[in-house]
Formats: sequence, C-alpha cells, structure tokens
Amino acid sequence: MSLALDSTQKFGAQEENGIVRCDACPVLCRIRPGRNGACSRYANENGELVRTDALVLLNRTLEAGGEMVPFLEAAQDWSGDVLHPGETFVTAIGAGTTYPDYKPAPFIVGGQHEGVDTVTVVTEGIFSYCGLKVKIDTDRHLGHETAAVRVNGEQIGHVTTAEYGSQMLSLGGVRHLTGGSKKEGSTTCAAMLALANREAVEVTIDGGATVLLQAGTQPVVNGVPEKRMRVGCGSATVGIFAQQWFGHVDEVIVIDDHITGVLSEHQAGKCLGMPPAGIRVRGRRSTPGRYFQVAEPGIGWGGTTITEPLSVIESIDPKLAWPGLRLLMTTTTGEDSFYVVLDDDLKPQPTPMPEVLRKTVERIGENCEPALTTILFMAGAGGSLRAGVTENPVLLTQGVKDLAVRVTLGGAPCYVWPGGGITVMTDVLRLPKHAFGHVPTPALVAPIEFTMRRDVYEALGGHMAHVTSLKDVLAENGQALTTGTAAENPWPTAP
Ligand code: SF4
Repeated sequence: MSLALDSTQKFGAQEENGIVRCDACPVLCRIRPGRNGACSRYANENGELVRTDALVLLNRTLEAGGEMVPFLEAAQDWSGDVLHPGETFVTAIGAGTTYPDYKPAPFIVGGQHEGVDTVTVVTEGIFSYCGLKVKIDTDRHLGHETAAVRVNGEQIGHVTTAEYGSQMLSLGGVRHLTGGSKKEGSTTCAAMLALANREAVEVTIDGGATVLLQAGTQPVVNGVPEKRMRVGCGSATVGIFAQQWFGHVDEVIVIDDHITGVLSEHQAGKCLGMPPAGIRVRGRRSTPGRYFQVAEPGIGWGGTTITEPLSVIESIDPKLAWPGLRLLMTTTTGEDSFYVVLDDDLKPQPTPMPEVLRKTVERIGENCEPALTTILFMAGAGGSLRAGVTENPVLLTQGVKDLAVRVTLGGAPCYVWPGGGITVMTDVLRLPKHAFGHVPTPALVAPIEFTMRRDVYEALGGHMAHVTSLKDVLAENGQALTTGTAAENPWPTAP
C-alpha cells in the first residue's frame, strides 16, 4: 500500500514567527524568512520552503551540453500534459530530497514512450558513501601508493594503484567524510563537491607532488601543465619503433619508470638482427631488453629521478661496444631525448641528432594522447534511498540487476557494480553542469533517476498513488530549466 503523505509533510513544516523547518535531510534546519538553510539548497521564501536551484529537464532536440534555457520557452509546442520520455527527461537535478526515506521520492513521473507507459522516479540522493576516482594521465611520480592526498592540510584521500600511463587517486569516501575530525569531513566534502562540479582543486600528496585537478583538463604537476600521456612503457615503445630506428642507430634506450627498454637486447632488436651493443643499464633485468627500477620514481625523465640520461648507464663492455657506436636515449613521450656517439675510448659524446632520428622522436610524441584528468563519481544507492522508490527496497535492487530498471545520474548513464546493493559509477563530465550539491552532515548530494515500465514499477511495490505528470511537476517548478544531454550519452530512456 502506498503511503498517503500530503505536500506539507513532504516539503517541510511551518513553525512560529514565519520559520520553516526543512526536513529534506537529517540536519532539519529551522530557516527564517528570506534565509537559506545550511546547505543553501533550500530557502524560506514567504513562509514556504523552496528549493533554491531550478529543476533541470533534458530535451532531446537541444544542443548537446548547451546552455540551460527555461523549459516553457524551449517547449513551445508542448501539449502541456503527458511526459514523452523520448523527447523530455526529468532529471533529479534541483528535484530535492525527501527525508526520512520512507516518504516517496520528490517526483515520480509517469509518461509514454512509443506507446509504453513508463515511470521515472527522481530524487537527489544524499550520499555518505561516495567518492571520486581520479585518473591523471602522467607517468611522473605524484606520490607513493597509499600516500595521503591533502587539501589545506586535511587528508581527503590517497594515492591508489597506478594504471597504464596514468596515476590514480581515490578521494573522499565515508572514512574521510564522517570517520575523522569535523574539519577533515567538511574539507573532504568541499573538495569533492568542487571536483564533481568540474571546478579546479589543488591537492598535495605526502612525500610527492602538488597537483591541480580539474575534470577534462590537463593535470598541472608542481605548476607545470602535463601535455602528453606516454605512448606505452619503455618496452612497448621499443616494440613500436624498432623498425623505424633500424639502420639509423646502433642502440636505443627508452627510459621509463615502469620498464626501461634497450633495443639491441630486446626481442624486437633480436628479430631485426641487431648485434649486442654492450651498453648495460642500471636496474633489475626482467627479461631481455626490459629493466625495472633503473632509478627512483620522480618527475624527471620517464617518471624517474633521472635528469642526466647518461646516469642510467651502468657499464659499457669493451668486448661488445665499438668506437662510433650511435646511441639514442628518449622517453616514452618523446619530451626528453639525447643522442651520443661513442669515441675511441668508448666514452659517449653528445652529438647533434640526425634528422631521421629526430623524426622518430617526434613521432613518439605524435602517438601520445593529450594528458587529461578524468573524475568518476562513485556512490552506493543501495541503502535507505530505495524506500523513496518502493516499499520493498530489495525488489528495486533486483530490478536494477535484472535491467528492468535503468539507473541514470542527471540523465547520464552509469556503471552498476555487480554484487550487492546499487553501487554506481559515472564520469562527472557526462552530467549537466553543477549537478552536485552537499549537506553539512557532511555528505554529497547527487541526482539519481530510476526509469522502468509502469507495470514493473507496480510489481516492485512502487508508490503508485504518487505517480504524477510533467504538467504537475512544472506546476510545482515553474522555473524549470532544460538543456541537451552530453553528446556521448545515450538518451536516458532509449532501449
Ligand atoms: S542542510 Fe539543507 S537539506 Fe538539510 S535540512 Fe538544512 S536546508 Fe534542508
């Protein structure tokens, strides 16, 4: 049976002296006339509790990622009643939150898609369990794995396992939000909110670098913008370019913090019939022509501490090397390179790089993708938020897993983790701008929508008595804005 709640219960309560008590989150702010609540998401406007941000709708015909425009202006030929999910989608941005969770979600919007009755349940979820996974395309050493990541001295996360060509940070999460001091929690919340809303935040890493992070832009490491993501590790670079070097040089050393490649020893050089050059590099030999740990991790050549490339050479074997031997040294981005020729004493002498080799170094750079910062928001919606959708929450979880229910965040698709709960992850750039908010508990507020066929919603134990129309939604939200969805997003209700 659906709950019978009136709008007064749903949207706060009036108290003496014009004060309104906001009940959209556990803080239960008492808001004086003309003032905002602690999160600035709600305000007291003439004795009524109002959401301060406009409700955001997506319109399929509007330019991808374009500016927000008033909905009623954009939808001139709208009949004023049924929601056509194939054209308009009500996101949870600006929709508000209901608390406690057993109250139905702020909007449960019925519509018709290609003759099928659908329902979209719309709410701004309050997430204590949420974090950001940050991918920074650089091979420079930003900090050791597990090193603390800080903002204004407060730990907001840590360095986690590096990926191919990228350093990774794990930021936020329940332990920093609520498990430490109040300052740690509020600093973490503010940093996450800014990053999720595409703003820039500078972080410092214990024993490592200072990094300016902003989704979709170049990372800035110790004040220097990172331009290129490496083409591959040193061994991969040798594998890719061996043929182009063959005949023009006698040895190539590709310096890389992960695997430093040595051409004549590498299988690529062997296949081309290159003779051993007798130049032994430092570090631990993994397999022929592939060396680990040639130096400490750093921000020098190839993500090592090396600034003088010849320092990577441990020895030159006079039985194998010869006067006039041509040696190219480069990194996996081609940003650093050096050319030497061995003299009669087998000492490397810096020499102008032949044009043919210069071109191969440039081609390494050409094959590097632009370095970017990517930020994924990850959160667990498997808890009490589900009660705003259905009286039997586990059925919602099962519906999401069975693909009968589609989950979107601000209309953006998300990856739903296998296993228990509804743990979702999405790129913050795929949501409309400024989609995230916060409450001072502290926690992040993120839009979340559940879309399904109407009969599925009924079978899940949905709050059927609260299914409403777009017209009624707009009656409560006359200032609704509309925008196009991100170009790479599928339409949220597309099959
Ligand atoms: S913090 Fe915001 S959502 Fe929570 S009660 Fe106060 S005004 Fe309402």
